[in-house]
Amino acid sequence: MKRFAIITGGSSGIGRHLVSAFAADGYDVAFSYLGAIEDAETTVAAASGGGRVLAAACDVGDAAAVERFVTEAEAWAGQAPDVLVNNAGIQTWSPLLELSEERWDAVIRTNLKGTFLNTQIVARHMVTAGKGGSIINIGSGCNKHAFPRLVDYTASKGGVEQFTKVAAVELGPSGIRVNCVAPGAIETERTKAEAPDYAETWGAVTPLRRVGTPDDIAGPVLFLASEAAGFVTGQTIWVDGGVFSQP
Ligand code: NDP
Repeated sequence: MKRFAIITGGSSGIGRHLVSAFAADGYDVAFSYLGAIEDAETTVAAASGGGRVLAAACDVGDAAAVERFVTEAEAWAGQAPDVLVNNAGIQTWSPLLELSEERWDAVIRTNLKGTFLNTQIVARHMVTAGKGGSIINIGSGCNKHAFPRLVDYTASKGGVEQFTKVAAVELGPSGIRVNCVAPGAIETERTKAEAPDYAETWGAVTPLRRVGTPDDIAGPVLFLASEAAGFVTGQTIWVDGGVFSQP
């Protein structure tokens, strides 16, 4: 039987590449996104390697919407999910003293509460199906550093990393593994738009002497989803070309 993966935030950037990579690996993939999706057809076409792809608008911070999405995706796939990737995330820059309460709430709601809600709801479906599973949370290399103007984002991703450890301990007896992948500087449409020289700037300070690509993230995520990682849980894999291992 085909394996079935749910990926949050699959409409752009890293998530979009994850959708393609999982489908090319033969998974049926259901992905969520927040806003209007202009490139759904492109996404599905790019993913024509094997598995089918379902796209659905679903705010990861809305429990009722997530429950509805997971239930509909499960009916579409004909089985409970084998894999969940909590990828949806938002980030902007603001000094602590100017950070609005609304912005803080939005970042924590999407990045941390979204990870909690999707994990809780999908894990319940996995436990009911009794077939175990693998949950991969996308953290951030910023956890290793104190980047000014990223206090909300860094707090949320620090939370994701710690959440991963506790969830792994609680869900382990049900055969569900929970791990975190922490990307370094990854060139996506978003990061390129934020800084046109993003690749040059980060490539120059990264020991592997290049910026990361979404495909660099897809490999470790696919590994953690697979049986090759069957005894790996509660871990964070840093996928940063070594940049955040430096003092
Ligand atoms: P993008 O902005 O390109 O993509 C974010 C995705 O999340 C989009 O599909 C977006 O949907 C979706 N999304 C945002 N808010 C919600 C929500 N409330 N509900 C559902 N979906 C939502 O980001 P990246 O690809 O760059 O980042 C992906 C992940 O990787 C994030 O968690 C980010 O923090 C993390 N990361 C990225 C790094 C990088 O260098 N790029 C470095 C370290 C970590 P829509 O388009 O509809 O808004």
